[in-house]
Amino acid sequence: MSAYLLSLETPEAGMLAELELYAKEHDIPIVRKETAAFLRVLMKIRRPRRVLEVGTAIGYSGILLARELPEGGKLVTIENYEPRICKAKENFARSGLNGQIVLMEGDAAEILPSLTEPFDFIFMDAAKGQYMNFFPEVLRLLPKDGVLVSDNVFQDGDTLESRYAVPRRDRTIHARMREYLYTLKHTNGLTTAILPVGDGVAVSVKE
Ligand code: SAH
Ligand code: MG
Repeated sequence: MSAYLLSLETPEAGMLAELELYAKEHDIPIVRKETAAFLRVLMKIRRPRRVLEVGTAIGYSGILLARELPEGGKLVTIENYEPRICKAKENFARSGLNGQIVLMEGDAAEILPSLTEPFDFIFMDAAKGQYMNFFPEVLRLLPKDGVLVSDNVFQDGDTLESRYAVPRRDRTIHARMREYLYTLKHTNGLTTAILPVGDGVAVSVKE
């Protein structure tokens, strides 16, 4: 399925193409092609003015999201790993979208509680074992009709396997991701669809 869907995608041009190469060379995770297309479609449908991203890396998805913002729209993105912060800053400056992007440096566990204004679109894409910890804060920051997109919920397929089929060292993260997905599906006032897009994407809407 992925191979065929990938074959339909048009290669990125310009900066994003360059960042893809850089990410590949330096082993930096960025959204998969299908996920990138899905994010763009969601942004075009929902037209959010305020977007929050948890997990910037080098700014690939950040630039993709910021390009879809309306005039006066804003992307706040959080990253805690110094070398990537550096690279992301550089990339945002070059993207010409710096005026619309705020990069917050530090641990999302500390930064999220300090945010007060709501975000109508939140992209959760940081350490997968921490989604559950970030969830209460993310839920607090989502207004009615706010959209939460959580990436990599399949964990390269591990999430779909039984606990005993995944290597022992991956069992904690397996349990945490399953707890997170269960929570997304069973939280009152939240409607969630889990989709086999890229590495698995959960889309939730707050009522
Ligand atoms: N959204 C990016 C990819 C993010 S990869 C893209 O698609 O282009 C996940 C990033 O989250 C990594 O760079 C990692 O350093 C960062 N991260 C992990 N845990 C974090 C935390 N607790 N606070 C802030 N950033 C975190
Ligand atoms: Mg991801």
